[in-house]
Amino acid sequence: MATTSPQTETLLRALPAVQRLLDEPAVRDLQAHFGREAVLSAAREVLAEWRAAIAAGTLSLPAGHPVTEGASGVCPEIIRRVAERVTKACGGGVRKVINATGVILHTGLGRAVLPAAAIQGIANELSGYSSVEVDLETGKRGHRDQSVNDLLVTLLGCERASVVNNNAAGVMLALAAIARGKEVIVSRGQLVEIGGSFRVPDVMRESGCKLVEVGTTNRTYALDFEAAITPETGALLLVHTSNFRIIGFTEEVSVADLAAVARKHRLPLLYDIGSGALLPDLAPELKEEPVVKTALDDGADLVMFSADKILGSTQGGVAVGKKDLVEKMRRHPLYRAFRLNKLTLCALESTLRLYLDPERRLETVPTLRMLRRPLASITDEAAALATRLSRACSGLEALCVEDSSRLGSGSLPERNIPTRVVSLRHAKLGAEELGARLRAHKPPIFTRIQDGRVLIDPRTLLPGEGDEIEKAVRTMGNA
Ligand SMILES: *Cc1c(COP(=O)(O)O)cnc(C)c1O
Repeated sequence: MATTSPQTETLLRALPAVQRLLDEPAVRDLQAHFGREAVLSAAREVLAEWRAAIAAGTLSLPAGHPVTEGASGVCPEIIRRVAERVTKACGGGVRKVINATGVILHTGLGRAVLPAAAIQGIANELSGYSSVEVDLETGKRGHRDQSVNDLLVTLLGCERASVVNNNAAGVMLALAAIARGKEVIVSRGQLVEIGGSFRVPDVMRESGCKLVEVGTTNRTYALDFEAAITPETGALLLVHTSNFRIIGFTEEVSVADLAAVARKHRLPLLYDIGSGALLPDLAPELKEEPVVKTALDDGADLVMFSADKILGSTQGGVAVGKKDLVEKMRRHPLYRAFRLNKLTLCALESTLRLYLDPERRLETVPTLRMLRRPLASITDEAAALATRLSRACSGLEALCVEDSSRLGSGSLPERNIPTRVVSLRHAKLGAEELGARLRAHKPPIFTRIQDGRVLIDPRTLLPGEGDEIEKAVRTMGNA
């Protein structure tokens, strides 16, 4: 065994006793939150690890964090690691974070920001019992999807609507309920993988349908579908290729053309529209996205979409269209397995109610508001924030530069939405480290790192979040 070097001695002596660590104000806060026992065991574990790492000569600290530093002589890094450990042990859980990435529907950050009305709806209606499955007039058992159905029928003019847990479940259920044991015809150009193991061929197999591929990767015609129809055909399926785009020599079948083929052969035309803007002309930024109402008007018999993508609500899978098809879904055993919960129900109803008001929905639905936010307003905010951040930390260069935001979640691939970002560079900290420090802030700030700089896009910031970013930057130290 190696003899203890003087440096090892110094480091070991600098480690605080457990009690001293527990007396640190920040660690006392942790005890108030998580209880003394949990913090004590985290503190013991961290100190034991440090002792072992010092003895082995493997203790590695971020630059600028000597083990003896800190106002009271306790290394702030030890405190940070105790906090990290106890938070993890007690279930860090879902936390509010700041999305400065400019990706509006960021899957890692929970996709759409819920409208205030949805949060309020949950707080108002769900703090006790609620009319989830009763009819208030008769007092008898009702249907939990009734009000969502009524709202969607009003908004879209469809015959019937229903909702399940997410769009993946909706598509699987529709296929199982409508075409189990039958052939379903799909274009080769639309056999997509959406991510998180949602692959059209796999979903088809799991639903008990037989996939029939037609056309080629880049070109498919309505005639290709028609030629593949046999007595075994159960449905025609269109899938929006949400997260990729084939460009160049391409031909996609139009909904209207395929609907004519479907009608002629008395087959249902199902359309997994993915993100899907609910109504036409919501935003010029959405002009290349397929629209739910337009797809129905063009003759699709059943359109399925996610509630937490462009619609801007909570996770859910909406199916709208012909009454008999939606009813088949609702009668299938999987419907019960995919049944949506009352939180979703309440949030979705509240969101759909916002869509009833064309004047206000672009403001009240955060996803639409962020998408529509004028460049001039973003530029003003980016410029003001850049000035504040450079003032808050003299080691920081903050410039307002042109960049692009994204809709995210596989919507509008390749389509960038012009924006202005605050581009940050710190004299001493690299971009990764700067990004990590911002993420360590409470609430954590998520940024985009590009070409060695940290970018902050005001498009996805909510009111007051600029102040938090300034606070985080202020603690970063001057160069
Ligand atoms: C996103 C998407 C899905 C999956 O929807 P979830 O609501 O995430 O389950 C399915 N199909 C398409 C085309 C999509 O874009």
